[in-house]
Amino acid sequence: MYYVMHFCRNKKCNNGWIDKDLTDARINPPDWKYCKDCAKALGIDYDAQTPDSNLTPKELEHKNKLKERMKKANEIRLQKINLCRHGGG
Ligand SMILES: [Zn+2]
Repeated sequence: MYYVMHFCRNKKCNNGWIDKDLTDARINPPDWKYCKDCAKALGIDYDAQTPDSNLTPKELEHKNKLKERMKKANEIRLQKINLCRHGGG
């Protein structure tokens, strides 16, 4: 498990902290989580937050679409690798 710098999802909040990297974001600091202060102010359980829990339905839809696209791209890549191997390289 990696730990990375997180920034608060509240754009007006400048809080940052080190937390578990749940989105494999070792380069860009994740901002899917509210800091403890904002979570408290919003009535959100800080520890119960997940990378998807704060997304609006629209954002979630967008994310799922991206995920789907990545999956397809991956499958195509794997197929190509298999083809190369079967072709005797
Ligand atoms: Zn905050």
